[in-house]
Amino acid sequence: MTKAKEYITTIKEDIKHRDPDQSEFQEAAFAVLDSLEPVLEQHPEYIAANLLARIVEPERVLQFRVPWQDDAGNYQVNRGFRVQFNSAIGPYKGGLRFHPSVNLSTVKFLGFEQIFKNSLTGLPIGGGKGGSDFDPKGKSDNEIMRFCQSFMTELARHIGPDLDVPAGDIGVGGREVGYLFGAYKRLRGFQNGVLTGKGLTFGGSAARTEATGYGLLYYTQAMLHAHEDKLQSKKIKISGSGNVAIYALQKAAELGATVLTVSDSNGYVYDPTGIDTAQVQQIKEIERGRIADYAQRVKTAEYHTGSVWDLDIDYDIALPCATQNEISEAQAQAMVAQHVSYVAEGANMPSQPEAVQVYHENGIFYGPAKAANAGGVAVSALEMSQNSERLSWDFRQVNDDLENIMHDIFTKSEESAKRYGLDHDYQAGANIAGFEKVAQAMMAQGLV
Ligand code: GLU
Repeated sequence: MTKAKEYITTIKEDIKHRDPDQSEFQEAAFAVLDSLEPVLEQHPEYIAANLLARIVEPERVLQFRVPWQDDAGNYQVNRGFRVQFNSAIGPYKGGLRFHPSVNLSTVKFLGFEQIFKNSLTGLPIGGGKGGSDFDPKGKSDNEIMRFCQSFMTELARHIGPDLDVPAGDIGVGGREVGYLFGAYKRLRGFQNGVLTGKGLTFGGSAARTEATGYGLLYYTQAMLHAHEDKLQSKKIKISGSGNVAIYALQKAAELGATVLTVSDSNGYVYDPTGIDTAQVQQIKEIERGRIADYAQRVKTAEYHTGSVWDLDIDYDIALPCATQNEISEAQAQAMVAQHVSYVAEGANMPSQPEAVQVYHENGIFYGPAKAANAGGVAVSALEMSQNSERLSWDFRQVNDDLENIMHDIFTKSEESAKRYGLDHDYQAGANIAGFEKVAQAMMAQGLV
Protein backbone atom coordinates (compact mmCIF):
# COMPACT_ATOMS: atom_id res chain seq x y z
CA MET A 1 0.00 0.00 0.00
CA THR A 2 1.31 3.48 -0.85
CA LYS A 3 1.81 6.02 1.91
CA ALA A 4 -1.03 8.09 0.43
CA LYS A 5 -3.43 5.16 0.43
CA GLU A 6 -2.48 4.26 3.96
CA TYR A 7 -3.13 7.84 5.10
CA ILE A 8 -6.53 7.94 3.36
CA THR A 9 -7.50 4.63 4.97
CA THR A 10 -6.62 6.02 8.41
CA ILE A 11 -8.75 9.11 7.83
CA LYS A 12 -11.70 6.98 6.71
CA GLU A 13 -11.35 4.78 9.79
CA ASP A 14 -11.34 7.90 11.99
CA ILE A 15 -14.55 9.14 10.36
CA LYS A 16 -16.25 5.77 10.83
CA HIS A 17 -15.13 5.68 14.43
CA ARG A 18 -16.18 9.25 15.23
CA ASP A 19 -19.44 9.37 13.30
CA PRO A 20 -20.58 5.78 12.80
CA ASP A 21 -24.18 6.79 12.02
CA GLN A 22 -23.49 9.53 9.49
CA SER A 23 -23.89 7.44 6.33
CA GLU A 24 -24.49 10.36 3.93
CA PHE A 25 -21.48 12.23 5.25
CA GLN A 26 -19.32 9.11 5.00
CA GLU A 27 -20.45 8.52 1.43
CA ALA A 28 -19.58 12.07 0.35
CA ALA A 29 -16.29 12.21 2.26
CA PHE A 30 -15.05 8.80 1.11
CA ALA A 31 -15.71 9.63 -2.55
CA VAL A 32 -13.57 12.77 -2.29
CA LEU A 33 -10.84 11.09 -0.23
CA ASP A 34 -10.53 8.22 -2.73
CA SER A 35 -9.98 10.68 -5.59
CA LEU A 36 -7.12 12.37 -3.76
CA GLU A 37 -4.67 9.48 -3.69
CA PRO A 38 -2.65 10.59 -6.75
CA VAL A 39 -2.52 14.17 -5.41
CA LEU A 40 -1.16 13.05 -2.04
CA GLU A 41 1.43 10.87 -3.75
CA GLN A 42 2.82 14.00 -5.36
CA HIS A 43 2.34 16.19 -2.28
CA PRO A 44 3.70 14.41 0.80
CA GLU A 45 3.61 17.81 2.56
CA TYR A 46 -0.19 17.48 2.74
CA ILE A 47 0.20 14.21 4.64
CA ALA A 48 2.85 15.74 6.92
CA ALA A 49 0.45 18.62 7.66
CA ASN A 50 -2.39 16.13 8.38
CA LEU A 51 -4.49 18.18 5.99
CA LEU A 52 -7.20 15.59 5.35
CA ALA A 53 -7.98 15.18 9.03
CA ARG A 54 -8.54 18.92 9.17
CA ILE A 55 -10.61 19.09 6.00
CA VAL A 56 -13.11 16.41 7.07
CA GLU A 57 -13.78 18.12 10.40
CA PRO A 58 -16.18 21.11 10.27
CA GLU A 59 -14.83 24.33 11.72
CA ARG A 60 -18.10 24.75 13.63
CA VAL A 61 -21.40 22.87 14.02
CA LEU A 62 -24.49 24.66 15.28
CA GLN A 63 -27.67 22.89 16.30
CA PHE A 64 -30.63 24.72 17.75
CA ARG A 65 -34.28 24.46 18.77
CA VAL A 66 -36.86 26.04 16.47
CA PRO A 67 -40.18 26.50 18.30
CA TRP A 68 -43.15 27.74 16.27
CA GLN A 69 -46.93 27.84 16.42
CA ASP A 70 -49.09 26.12 13.78
CA ASP A 71 -52.41 27.50 12.51
CA ALA A 72 -54.38 25.35 14.95
CA GLY A 73 -52.53 27.04 17.84
CA ASN A 74 -50.32 24.05 18.73
CA TYR A 75 -46.72 24.62 19.80
CA GLN A 76 -44.32 22.74 17.52
CA VAL A 77 -40.60 22.14 17.81
CA ASN A 78 -38.13 21.41 15.01
CA ARG A 79 -34.38 21.08 14.90
CA GLY A 80 -32.23 23.69 13.14
CA PHE A 81 -28.66 23.22 11.90
CA ARG A 82 -25.82 25.24 10.42
CA VAL A 83 -22.52 23.58 9.66
CA GLN A 84 -19.72 26.08 9.02
CA PHE A 85 -17.42 23.62 7.34
CA ASN A 86 -14.48 25.43 5.80
CA SER A 87 -13.52 29.10 5.46
CA ALA A 88 -10.09 28.67 3.81
CA ILE A 89 -11.01 30.60 0.67
CA GLY A 90 -13.89 32.82 1.81
CA PRO A 91 -16.90 33.19 4.13
CA TYR A 92 -19.00 30.06 4.63
CA LYS A 93 -21.50 29.79 1.78
CA GLY A 94 -24.25 27.28 1.14
CA GLY A 95 -27.97 26.75 1.24
CA LEU A 96 -30.57 25.90 3.85
CA ARG A 97 -32.67 22.78 3.35
CA PHE A 98 -36.08 22.30 4.96
CA HIS A 99 -37.05 18.64 4.66
CA PRO A 100 -37.94 15.87 7.14
CA SER A 101 -34.79 13.95 6.14
CA VAL A 102 -32.49 16.73 7.42
CA ASN A 103 -30.17 15.66 10.23
CA LEU A 104 -26.53 16.26 11.10
CA SER A 105 -25.36 13.64 8.60
CA THR A 106 -27.21 15.24 5.66
CA VAL A 107 -26.12 18.75 6.58
CA LYS A 108 -22.51 17.61 6.95
CA PHE A 109 -22.55 15.79 3.62
CA LEU A 110 -23.98 18.85 1.90
CA GLY A 111 -21.56 21.21 3.66
CA PHE A 112 -18.60 19.02 2.76
CA GLU A 113 -19.59 18.90 -0.92
CA GLN A 114 -20.08 22.65 -0.85
CA ILE A 115 -16.40 23.25 0.06
CA PHE A 116 -15.17 21.77 -3.22
CA LYS A 117 -18.10 22.98 -5.33
CA ASN A 118 -17.55 26.54 -4.18
CA SER A 119 -13.82 26.25 -4.80
CA LEU A 120 -14.52 25.02 -8.36
CA THR A 121 -16.52 28.16 -9.17
CA GLY A 122 -13.27 30.14 -8.90
CA LEU A 123 -15.03 32.65 -6.63
CA PRO A 124 -13.96 33.46 -3.03
CA ILE A 125 -16.50 31.43 -1.04
CA GLY A 126 -15.98 28.82 1.69
CA GLY A 127 -18.29 25.89 2.40
CA GLY A 128 -21.28 25.62 4.71
CA LYS A 129 -24.83 24.27 4.83
CA GLY A 130 -27.82 24.31 7.11
CA GLY A 131 -31.46 23.54 7.42
CA SER A 132 -34.16 21.92 9.47
CA ASP A 133 -36.21 18.74 9.67
CA PHE A 134 -39.29 20.98 9.26
CA ASP A 135 -41.59 19.66 6.50
CA PRO A 136 -42.97 22.53 4.40
CA LYS A 137 -45.36 20.18 2.58
CA GLY A 138 -48.98 21.10 3.33
CA LYS A 139 -48.05 24.09 5.52
CA SER A 140 -49.87 27.40 5.10
CA ASP A 141 -48.08 30.55 4.06
CA ASN A 142 -48.39 31.89 7.61
CA GLU A 143 -46.93 28.74 9.11
CA ILE A 144 -43.96 28.97 6.73
CA MET A 145 -43.45 32.61 7.73
CA ARG A 146 -43.62 31.91 11.47
CA PHE A 147 -41.22 29.02 11.08
CA CYS A 148 -38.72 31.11 9.10
CA GLN A 149 -38.91 33.90 11.67
CA SER A 150 -38.23 31.53 14.54
CA PHE A 151 -35.40 29.81 12.62
CA MET A 152 -33.73 33.18 11.96
CA THR A 153 -34.14 34.32 15.57
CA GLU A 154 -31.34 31.91 16.42
CA LEU A 155 -29.42 31.80 13.12
CA ALA A 156 -29.02 35.60 12.90
CA ARG A 157 -26.29 35.71 15.55
CA HIS A 158 -24.14 33.26 13.59
CA ILE A 159 -24.23 34.71 10.05
CA GLY A 160 -23.11 37.88 8.27
CA PRO A 161 -21.99 39.13 4.82
CA ASP A 162 -18.31 38.39 5.58
CA LEU A 163 -18.93 35.47 7.93
CA ASP A 164 -21.55 33.05 6.61
CA VAL A 165 -24.07 33.65 3.82
CA PRO A 166 -26.95 31.14 3.58
CA ALA A 167 -29.28 30.71 0.59
CA GLY A 168 -31.94 28.23 -0.51
CA ASP A 169 -31.93 24.50 -1.18
CA ILE A 170 -34.72 21.87 -1.13
CA GLY A 171 -37.79 23.40 0.60
CA VAL A 172 -36.26 26.88 0.70
CA GLY A 173 -37.02 29.09 -2.31
CA GLY A 174 -37.66 32.77 -2.93
CA ARG A 175 -40.61 32.95 -0.52
CA GLU A 176 -38.63 31.46 2.38
CA VAL A 177 -35.50 33.55 1.70
CA GLY A 178 -37.76 36.63 1.76
CA TYR A 179 -39.20 35.73 5.17
CA LEU A 180 -35.75 34.86 6.50
CA PHE A 181 -34.36 38.17 5.25
CA GLY A 182 -37.23 40.13 6.82
CA ALA A 183 -36.66 38.39 10.14
CA TYR A 184 -32.91 39.07 9.98
CA LYS A 185 -33.54 42.74 9.23
CA ARG A 186 -35.73 43.18 12.31
CA LEU A 187 -33.05 41.63 14.49
CA ARG A 188 -29.87 43.16 13.10
CA GLY A 189 -30.73 45.77 10.46
CA PHE A 190 -30.75 45.79 6.67
CA GLN A 191 -27.62 44.00 5.48
CA ASN A 192 -27.99 43.08 1.86
CA GLY A 193 -25.24 40.50 1.65
CA VAL A 194 -26.34 38.28 4.53
CA LEU A 195 -28.44 35.93 2.38
CA THR A 196 -28.53 35.18 -1.35
CA GLY A 197 -31.45 34.13 -3.51
CA LYS A 198 -33.27 37.29 -2.43
CA GLY A 199 -36.11 38.87 -4.38
CA LEU A 200 -35.10 41.21 -7.21
CA THR A 201 -36.64 44.19 -5.40
CA PHE A 202 -34.31 43.93 -2.37
CA GLY A 203 -30.87 43.01 -3.64
CA GLY A 204 -31.42 39.67 -5.37
CA SER A 205 -29.49 38.88 -8.54
CA ALA A 206 -30.95 38.49 -12.00
CA ALA A 207 -30.72 34.83 -13.12
CA ARG A 208 -30.28 33.44 -9.58
CA THR A 209 -33.60 31.55 -9.82
CA GLU A 210 -32.57 30.01 -13.13
CA ALA A 211 -28.90 29.55 -12.25
CA THR A 212 -28.64 25.92 -11.07
CA GLY A 213 -30.79 24.53 -13.90
CA TYR A 214 -29.26 26.69 -16.61
CA GLY A 215 -25.78 26.02 -15.25
CA LEU A 216 -26.41 22.28 -15.37
CA LEU A 217 -27.15 22.54 -19.08
CA TYR A 218 -24.10 24.76 -19.74
CA TYR A 219 -21.96 22.15 -18.00
CA THR A 220 -23.63 19.34 -19.98
CA GLN A 221 -23.04 21.29 -23.17
CA ALA A 222 -19.32 21.51 -22.36
CA MET A 223 -19.14 17.80 -21.56
CA LEU A 224 -20.85 16.89 -24.85
CA HIS A 225 -18.62 19.31 -26.72
CA ALA A 226 -15.52 17.50 -25.37
CA HIS A 227 -16.85 14.40 -27.12
CA GLU A 228 -17.72 16.23 -30.31
CA ASP A 229 -21.39 15.86 -29.52
CA LYS A 230 -24.23 18.35 -28.99
CA LEU A 231 -27.55 18.72 -27.18
CA GLN A 232 -29.59 19.25 -30.35
CA SER A 233 -32.26 16.45 -30.65
CA LYS A 234 -30.97 14.51 -27.63
CA LYS A 235 -33.52 12.68 -25.47
CA ILE A 236 -33.25 13.54 -21.79
CA LYS A 237 -34.73 12.17 -18.58
CA ILE A 238 -35.00 14.70 -15.76
CA SER A 239 -36.04 13.72 -12.24
CA GLY A 240 -37.52 16.24 -9.83
CA SER A 241 -39.75 19.22 -10.56
CA GLY A 242 -38.38 21.84 -8.19
CA ASN A 243 -36.27 24.88 -8.92
CA VAL A 244 -33.34 22.95 -10.42
CA ALA A 245 -35.47 20.65 -12.62
CA ILE A 246 -37.71 23.43 -13.96
CA TYR A 247 -34.88 25.60 -15.28
CA ALA A 248 -32.90 22.59 -16.51
CA LEU A 249 -36.01 21.62 -18.46
CA GLN A 250 -36.44 25.11 -19.87
CA LYS A 251 -32.80 25.44 -20.98
CA ALA A 252 -32.64 21.89 -22.41
CA ALA A 253 -35.71 22.60 -24.56
CA GLU A 254 -34.25 25.95 -25.64
CA LEU A 255 -31.05 24.18 -26.72
CA GLY A 256 -33.02 21.76 -28.91
CA ALA A 257 -33.21 18.66 -26.70
CA THR A 258 -36.41 16.77 -25.81
CA VAL A 259 -37.06 16.28 -22.10
CA LEU A 260 -39.17 13.16 -21.67
CA THR A 261 -39.85 13.19 -17.92
CA VAL A 262 -40.13 15.14 -14.68
CA SER A 263 -41.07 13.73 -11.28
CA ASP A 264 -41.85 14.34 -7.63
CA SER A 265 -41.66 12.12 -4.56
CA ASN A 266 -44.88 10.28 -5.54
CA GLY A 267 -44.29 9.55 -9.23
CA TYR A 268 -43.35 10.85 -12.65
CA VAL A 269 -44.82 12.03 -15.93
CA TYR A 270 -43.59 10.75 -19.28
CA ASP A 271 -44.31 12.75 -22.41
CA PRO A 272 -42.61 11.47 -25.58
CA THR A 273 -43.34 14.79 -27.31
CA GLY A 274 -41.40 16.73 -24.68
CA ILE A 275 -42.45 18.15 -21.30
CA ASP A 276 -43.94 21.66 -21.40
CA THR A 277 -42.03 23.98 -19.06
CA ALA A 278 -44.86 26.49 -18.64
CA GLN A 279 -47.25 23.77 -17.37
CA VAL A 280 -44.72 22.50 -14.83
CA GLN A 281 -44.09 26.06 -13.65
CA GLN A 282 -47.82 26.68 -13.31
CA ILE A 283 -48.34 23.52 -11.25
CA LYS A 284 -45.23 23.67 -9.08
CA GLU A 285 -44.34 27.35 -8.71
CA ILE A 286 -47.79 28.97 -8.76
CA GLU A 287 -50.20 26.32 -7.50
CA ARG A 288 -47.60 24.47 -5.36
CA GLY A 289 -49.34 21.28 -6.52
CA ARG A 290 -48.27 17.72 -7.38
CA ILE A 291 -46.79 16.54 -10.67
CA ALA A 292 -49.68 14.07 -11.21
CA ASP A 293 -51.77 17.13 -12.19
CA TYR A 294 -49.60 17.50 -15.30
CA ALA A 295 -50.98 14.34 -16.94
CA GLN A 296 -54.53 15.59 -16.39
CA ARG A 297 -53.78 18.74 -18.36
CA VAL A 298 -51.50 17.49 -21.12
CA LYS A 299 -52.99 14.78 -23.36
CA THR A 300 -49.68 13.36 -24.62
CA ALA A 301 -48.40 12.66 -21.09
CA GLU A 302 -48.85 9.64 -18.84
CA TYR A 303 -48.44 9.58 -15.06
CA HIS A 304 -46.95 6.65 -13.14
CA THR A 305 -46.20 6.21 -9.46
CA GLY A 306 -42.66 5.15 -8.48
CA SER A 307 -39.20 6.19 -9.63
CA VAL A 308 -38.58 7.76 -13.02
CA TRP A 309 -35.36 5.69 -13.18
CA ASP A 310 -37.53 2.57 -13.48
CA LEU A 311 -39.25 3.79 -16.66
CA ASP A 312 -37.92 1.53 -19.43
CA ILE A 313 -37.24 3.69 -22.49
CA ASP A 314 -34.13 4.48 -24.53
CA TYR A 315 -32.63 7.95 -24.09
CA ASP A 316 -29.28 9.78 -24.23
CA ILE A 317 -28.77 11.93 -21.14
CA ALA A 318 -29.81 11.53 -17.50
CA LEU A 319 -30.14 14.70 -15.43
CA PRO A 320 -31.07 13.69 -11.87
CA CYS A 321 -32.44 16.85 -10.20
CA ALA A 322 -34.42 15.42 -7.27
CA THR A 323 -32.37 14.38 -4.22
CA GLN A 324 -29.47 12.37 -2.79
CA ASN A 325 -29.07 8.66 -3.55
CA GLU A 326 -32.06 8.56 -5.91
CA ILE A 327 -30.21 6.32 -8.44
CA SER A 328 -29.34 2.76 -7.37
CA GLU A 329 -26.85 0.35 -8.92
CA ALA A 330 -29.66 -1.55 -10.69
CA GLN A 331 -31.08 1.69 -12.08
CA ALA A 332 -27.63 2.67 -13.36
CA GLN A 333 -27.38 -0.73 -15.02
CA ALA A 334 -30.75 -0.06 -16.65
CA MET A 335 -29.26 3.17 -18.06
CA VAL A 336 -26.52 1.14 -19.73
CA ALA A 337 -29.15 -1.07 -21.39
CA GLN A 338 -31.12 2.04 -22.41
CA HIS A 339 -28.09 3.47 -24.25
CA VAL A 340 -27.55 6.45 -21.95
CA SER A 341 -24.25 8.20 -22.80
CA TYR A 342 -24.08 11.00 -20.21
CA VAL A 343 -25.16 11.67 -16.63
CA ALA A 344 -24.93 15.17 -15.16
CA GLU A 345 -26.16 15.80 -11.64
CA GLY A 346 -28.47 18.71 -10.80
CA ALA A 347 -29.23 17.40 -7.30
CA ASN A 348 -26.51 16.89 -4.70
CA MET A 349 -25.12 13.31 -4.71
CA PRO A 350 -28.12 11.74 -6.51
CA SER A 351 -26.14 8.67 -7.64
CA GLN A 352 -25.33 6.00 -5.07
CA PRO A 353 -21.60 5.06 -5.07
CA GLU A 354 -22.38 1.70 -6.73
CA ALA A 355 -24.26 3.55 -9.50
CA VAL A 356 -21.22 5.77 -10.11
CA GLN A 357 -19.13 2.61 -10.38
CA VAL A 358 -21.52 1.36 -13.10
CA TYR A 359 -21.11 4.62 -15.06
CA HIS A 360 -17.31 4.35 -14.89
CA GLU A 361 -17.24 0.70 -15.90
CA ASN A 362 -19.59 1.15 -18.84
CA GLY A 363 -18.23 4.31 -20.44
CA ILE A 364 -21.09 6.59 -19.38
CA PHE A 365 -19.56 10.06 -19.05
CA TYR A 366 -20.36 11.33 -15.58
CA GLY A 367 -20.59 14.99 -14.46
CA PRO A 368 -20.71 14.94 -10.64
CA ALA A 369 -22.94 17.31 -8.68
CA LYS A 370 -20.19 19.47 -7.23
CA ALA A 371 -19.23 20.49 -10.77
CA ALA A 372 -22.49 20.19 -12.70
CA ASN A 373 -24.78 21.96 -10.22
CA ALA A 374 -22.35 24.68 -9.11
CA GLY A 375 -24.24 27.31 -11.14
CA GLY A 376 -26.58 28.15 -8.27
CA VAL A 377 -23.90 28.96 -5.77
CA ALA A 378 -21.82 30.67 -8.46
CA VAL A 379 -24.59 33.18 -9.11
CA SER A 380 -25.05 33.49 -5.34
CA ALA A 381 -21.42 34.64 -5.19
CA LEU A 382 -22.19 37.12 -7.99
CA GLU A 383 -25.15 38.32 -5.90
CA MET A 384 -22.71 38.93 -3.02
CA SER A 385 -20.49 40.96 -5.37
CA GLN A 386 -23.43 43.05 -6.53
CA ASN A 387 -24.53 43.65 -2.94
CA SER A 388 -21.01 44.78 -1.98
CA GLU A 389 -20.84 47.29 -4.78
CA ARG A 390 -24.51 48.28 -4.33
CA LEU A 391 -25.29 47.69 -7.98
CA SER A 392 -27.36 45.16 -9.92
CA TRP A 393 -26.20 43.63 -13.13
CA ASP A 394 -28.64 42.79 -15.90
CA PHE A 395 -29.80 39.29 -16.79
CA ARG A 396 -27.60 38.99 -19.84
CA GLN A 397 -24.44 39.86 -17.92
CA VAL A 398 -25.11 37.38 -15.10
CA ASN A 399 -26.19 34.66 -17.52
CA ASP A 400 -23.05 35.17 -19.64
CA ASP A 401 -20.88 34.99 -16.52
CA LEU A 402 -22.69 31.81 -15.46
CA GLU A 403 -22.11 30.19 -18.84
CA ASN A 404 -18.39 31.03 -18.70
CA ILE A 405 -18.06 29.76 -15.14
CA MET A 406 -19.72 26.42 -15.99
CA HIS A 407 -17.57 25.89 -19.08
CA ASP A 408 -14.54 26.78 -17.00
CA ILE A 409 -15.51 24.27 -14.29
CA PHE A 410 -15.74 21.55 -16.91
CA THR A 411 -12.37 22.48 -18.42
CA LYS A 412 -10.69 22.66 -15.01
CA SER A 413 -12.05 19.23 -14.05
CA GLU A 414 -11.06 17.73 -17.38
CA GLU A 415 -7.52 19.11 -17.15
CA SER A 416 -7.01 18.07 -13.53
CA ALA A 417 -8.08 14.53 -14.39
CA LYS A 418 -5.70 14.47 -17.36
CA ARG A 419 -2.83 15.74 -15.25
CA TYR A 420 -3.08 12.58 -13.16
CA GLY A 421 -3.65 10.28 -16.13
CA LEU A 422 -7.38 9.93 -15.43
CA ASP A 423 -8.74 11.09 -18.80
CA HIS A 424 -12.52 11.55 -18.91
CA ASP A 425 -12.91 10.89 -15.17
CA TYR A 426 -14.72 14.16 -14.49
CA GLN A 427 -15.52 13.06 -10.94
CA ALA A 428 -11.88 12.67 -9.95
CA GLY A 429 -11.09 15.85 -11.89
CA ALA A 430 -13.69 17.89 -9.98
CA ASN A 431 -12.59 16.50 -6.62
CA ILE A 432 -8.94 17.20 -7.35
CA ALA A 433 -9.43 20.69 -8.81
CA GLY A 434 -11.78 21.67 -5.97
CA PHE A 435 -9.40 20.29 -3.35
CA GLU A 436 -6.21 21.85 -4.69
CA LYS A 437 -7.28 25.46 -4.17
CA VAL A 438 -8.59 24.79 -0.65
CA ALA A 439 -5.45 22.80 0.22
CA GLN A 440 -3.13 25.56 -0.98
CA ALA A 441 -5.09 28.17 0.99
CA MET A 442 -5.05 26.08 4.16
CA MET A 443 -1.32 25.39 3.86
CA ALA A 444 -0.61 29.09 3.38
CA GLN A 445 -2.62 30.01 6.48
CA GLY A 446 -0.67 27.81 8.89
CA LEU A 447 -2.32 25.38 11.30
CA VAL A 448 -6.00 26.20 10.78
N1 GLU B 1 -28.22 25.01 -2.39
C1 GLU B 1 -27.40 25.31 -3.55
C2 GLU B 1 -26.28 24.30 -3.65
O1 GLU B 1 -26.45 23.15 -3.32
C3 GLU B 1 -26.96 26.75 -3.60
C4 GLU B 1 -26.29 27.31 -2.40
C5 GLU B 1 -26.07 28.82 -2.42
O2 GLU B 1 -26.51 29.49 -3.34
O3 GLU B 1 -25.44 29.29 -1.47
O4 GLU B 1 -25.21 24.58 -4.12
